[in-house]
Amino acid sequence: MPLSEFELIARYFRDQPVEREDVVQGIGDDCAEVTIADGHEMLVDVSCFAEGGHFQAGDDPAGIGHRALAYALTRLAACGAEPAWLTLALTLPRVDEQWLRDFSGGLLRLAQRHRVALVGGDTTRGPLTVGLQLHGLLPMGSAVPANGARPGDLLYIIRPLGAAGLAVLSLAGELQLPIQQRQDVLEWLYHPEPPVAAAAALRGLAHGACPLADGLAQSLAGFLDNAGVGATVQVQRLPLSPAVEASFDQAGGWNLPLHGQDPCGLCIAVPAERQAEWEQRLAAHGLMGRWVGIVEPRPGLRCVLDDGTEI
Ligand code: ADP
Ligand code: MG
Repeated sequence: MPLSEFELIARYFRDQPVEREDVVQGIGDDCAEVTIADGHEMLVDVSCFAEGGHFQAGDDPAGIGHRALAYALTRLAACGAEPAWLTLALTLPRVDEQWLRDFSGGLLRLAQRHRVALVGGDTTRGPLTVGLQLHGLLPMGSAVPANGARPGDLLYIIRPLGAAGLAVLSLAGELQLPIQQRQDVLEWLYHPEPPVAAAAALRGLAHGACPLADGLAQSLAGFLDNAGVGATVQVQRLPLSPAVEASFDQAGGWNLPLHGQDPCGLCIAVPAERQAEWEQRLAAHGLMGRWVGIVEPRPGLRCVLDDGTEI
C-alpha cells in the first residue's frame, strides 16, 4: 500500500537533527512559527527546480536535494544573510521510497551542516518539482545590495571556476575525462559546497555580490547592469579548478570559466581602499579569494587577456 502524505512526511522530513530555539512550531501544524531576534531582519529566497530543466529523471536524488539547497544558500550568502529556516514544496509523480530517502538525505545533511531547520512544506502529486523557500537572518540594515557595485571596486572570485561546467560537458559526452577527474567535477556539479561563510565577510564591507549560477559572464553582466556600471575582467587572473586547467583547450578554453554554470559561485565587489581588510576577513573565514577585475563607469563587461586583447 502506498504511503499516505502524513506517513511520508513523518518518515522522510519530520525528524531532523537541527534544533533551533527560534523555531516555535516546525513541521506538524498548519503554519510554521518562528521568532526573529531583536535588531535582526529576515531575507527570503525562493528557488524552484524542475525535472527536464535543472535536473534529469535519472539524476542521483541525493544530489538533487543537495544542489537545490546549495544554490539557495549561495543566493542568501550573496545578500549577507545567515541561513535559518527552510520550507519545501515537493511535487512527485509517484511515491518512490528509495528516491525520497536519498533526496531527503542529501537535502537534510547539507541543512544540518549549516543549522538550517526544515519547518514545513507541502507535498503534492505531479511532474517532479522541488521548490525551496530559504529564510535568512542578519542585523537590521546590513543586507548587501544587489545593485551596489561602484566604479573602482575590485571584483573578487572566491572559488575556482569551471568544474561544474566541465561536468556538464563530460555528461553530454563532449569530452572524455580520466575517471578521477570526472568524479571530481561531478562532485562540483551535484554536491557543491555553498560559500555560507562569505555572508559574514561581506556584511558592512562589500558593495555587492553576485551568484554565478548562469556562468560568470552572463551573471556578472546582469549584476553590473543593475548597478549602472561596467567592468573589465582580466581572464588570466581567473582561478581555475585543476581539472579545468588540465583539459583547458579541449574544453573550449576561456569559454568554460566564463560561461560554465556554477551553482555555488560568487563574484564580490569590494571597495579598493578596503582591500587589505577584505582579504584578512576572507582568510579569517577560511575562504580564498582573488581579484579578477575592476568596476568602471562605462557600461558592459569586457574580458581581456594580459596583453590587453579583448576576447
Ligand atoms: P495540510 O493537510 O494542512 O496541508 P499537510 O498534510 O500538507 O498539511 O502537512 C502536514 C505538515 O507537514 C505541515 O506542517 C506541513 O508544513 C508539513 N509538510 C508537508 N509537506 C512537507 C515537506 N515536503 N517537507 C516538509 N514539511 C512538509
Ligand atoms: Mg498539504
